[in-house]
Amino acid sequence: MNRLVPVLAALPLAFLSTPAFAQTQALEQAAAAALESDTYAWDFVEGITTEVGPRQAGTEAEARGRAWAVAWLKAKGFANVADEPFMMDTWVPGDIARARVTAPFAQDLTVLPLGNSGATPAGGIEAEVVFFRTVDELRAAPAESLAGKIAYISHQMRPAQDGSHYGFAGPVRWVGPGLAASKGAVGVVIKSVGTDHHRNPHTGGTSFPEGVKPIPAGALSLPDAENLERMFARAKGRPLTLRLEMNPRQLGKTESGNVVGEIVGQNPSLPPVLLACHIDSWWNSPGAFDDGAGCAIVAAAALNAAKAGQPLRTVRVLMAGAEETGLWGSKAYSEAHLDEAIAVGIESDFGADRVWRFDSNFRESNPALHKRIAAAVARFGVSAGSDVATGGADLNIVRDQKGALIDLQQDGMRYFDLHHTPDDTLDKIDPVQLRQNVAVWTMVVGILANEANSILTGGPIPSAPKIMQAP
Ligand code: ZN
Ligand code: ZN
Repeated sequence: MNRLVPVLAALPLAFLSTPAFAQTQALEQAAAAALESDTYAWDFVEGITTEVGPRQAGTEAEARGRAWAVAWLKAKGFANVADEPFMMDTWVPGDIARARVTAPFAQDLTVLPLGNSGATPAGGIEAEVVFFRTVDELRAAPAESLAGKIAYISHQMRPAQDGSHYGFAGPVRWVGPGLAASKGAVGVVIKSVGTDHHRNPHTGGTSFPEGVKPIPAGALSLPDAENLERMFARAKGRPLTLRLEMNPRQLGKTESGNVVGEIVGQNPSLPPVLLACHIDSWWNSPGAFDDGAGCAIVAAAALNAAKAGQPLRTVRVLMAGAEETGLWGSKAYSEAHLDEAIAVGIESDFGADRVWRFDSNFRESNPALHKRIAAAVARFGVSAGSDVATGGADLNIVRDQKGALIDLQQDGMRYFDLHHTPDDTLDKIDPVQLRQNVAVWTMVVGILANEANSILTGGPIPSAPKIMQAP
């Protein structure tokens, strides 16, 4: 069935010959073509995961990733391509990560350090483990009650389409180690913040409060964490001791950078549309889902939207550096460009599975535009949500400017099986769902880039992303 027929029937005849109509039609064609046969996104994510691989923030590996992205953007015809440098505090994981229960049931556990973790002395530490079922239990523990002990923190994370369990379980990683350290712990291990049952720990950033010395902090794979919990049950009150050895370290200040590129609009005096993702990954995977796919989707959308004709506004792609270890690139970009207005920001940083929901922060203040986008993405199976969009981690500049935001929410059922694990590899990307992302983004970017009027006309201004991707 020709989907255009009912739309055409509802339109006044005069509109059919206007430039606006021709432009809408060209955009619909570009998005439909992207759904069938986009190759930009796959080329980007296949290329960067193959030719670069892991891209730990602030290291030479991330620098190679940025150089690769710069070359790719230039080759595809982006203008004003640059790698804007900034300095950051760089943490590296080291090459030793061992955990062994020494009593009462001696055996090894699979562990990886968390980003910003401290190191153990050579040979490791050995201490009694104190079990906390939740981060709130740890919060309630008396001051100094963990002196000389290792804390273990659990949670009950489950897969959810909107990824919302990350919000419940995430604090175990984000603040658990800092809380344990502030109560005197000498080390901490957490149940990985994830949902798979492979023997892969999920790393990710943590942070320690001002004045609290970082302690060794590791993530156990989910099967190992469950094994540890069964040991507590069988220990029947006998002390459970763990030996932990890890050698991550802080390198001090090193350089990272934000890769940018533009499809220049017809009217460069209008604020641009900003499409964000992050170029860095953790060291333990090539970062296909997190966030090679996101950068692939935003770059492909910019290119496909431009196939419908030069947009009115400039479309700028921001591939932020060093997101994982503390949103360094997002903060640096906002600092450097705060006085350059952005029309609207959108980010892709939730894998490569299909987009299922659209939210904005202008549903009430600019209902006509919100409805137009909702109608345009419905054909791709995307529903209009009623949440206020908060933007992703790399959109600090838009939140700082109190600007317009759109969230194109991806299906999160598989995301936390792969997130920050060695399993985050290219084979997990479904090319059909990747192209659906590109098609949806092409429509949305095309509409926004051709919107002559101000996009946010008042309305709610979020101060932080809904789902934190780093501490
Ligand atoms: Zn990410
Ligand atoms: Zn991440």
